[in-house]
Amino acid sequence: MGLFSKKPPCPICGGKISWFLPSKIEGQYICDTCYSKIDMDNDKKCNLTMQGFKEYLAFYDENQHLKSKFAVSEKIDFGIWDTKIIFDYQNKLFCMSKNPDKTVFEGKHLKSFIIKEDNIPLFEGSSEGIRCYTSTVPERAMALAPQIAQYMMSKQLARAIDKMDDGKENRTAPIQLFDIPEPFKAFNVELYLDHPYWTVIKCDMDGPRFSHEHPNVNDYIRDYQDSIKEIEKLVKALKTVAFPGTVEISVAFGTTSAQGVQKSVAPSVDPIEEIKRYKALMEEGIISQQEFEAKKKQLLGI
Ligand SMILES: [Zn+2]
Repeated sequence: MGLFSKKPPCPICGGKISWFLPSKIEGQYICDTCYSKIDMDNDKKCNLTMQGFKEYLAFYDENQHLKSKFAVSEKIDFGIWDTKIIFDYQNKLFCMSKNPDKTVFEGKHLKSFIIKEDNIPLFEGSSEGIRCYTSTVPERAMALAPQIAQYMMSKQLARAIDKMDDGKENRTAPIQLFDIPEPFKAFNVELYLDHPYWTVIKCDMDGPRFSHEHPNVNDYIRDYQDSIKEIEKLVKALKTVAFPGTVEISVAFGTTSAQGVQKSVAPSVDPIEEIKRYKALMEEGIISQQEFEAKKKQLLGI
């Protein structure tokens, strides 16, 4: 069939089929309006049959009702690619867009979520509770301070050499840009759903970057803390719509994780602070006295 030959109307709505690269389901052309309604996992989309598509459209129409009652209580901005998640606290809804124009999920659809810093868990949530892991990012950023100081010194030296002959900046001496990799690249957000059309939604929020010309650990940590505020907002919002009333548990990095975090990369921790933290967990009834005693002995090395 040629590009400009006449195509039969859309089997769903009878509308006109686009002349330019029209979409197909099971070999049949579908109009752009009908096709644009598809918002589901990619593998489900690839295997969509005509019957499945008709069923999906019924679901789509039903979902319109949730879209129309959606009242935005919170908006989380992921920065790059303009990814946003909006939440409706009253109706316990969320939607992966800046307006409720994509599939609206009910909080009960969310089974669990995990937020990682380059595959190292930072938050995990389910109906069993929210786990917050201690991040090693600030510590790892701090550890780069000597390298940064050295870079700044070599830059100053290059400037000084540059000015040596005539006292002017000639920019003849090449100044290298700072290119030490950051402690992590991105926060990876994964939402696991119990839903006919969605199994998992993944999106990334870029971590902070060092300035190539004026790298500075304090600037980095300040930017990191700003990102963490946004991530904490996201965790709170997910908890509000999906797991209200669950407890939040702080877990020291490397002590326990469903993801099997390697203990070998655990940072040195202040044992006294850790013991206080475990004592609080015991008092809240989250761990038993025996578990607390065992942890205490382990931390004190006795
Ligand atoms: Zn159509």
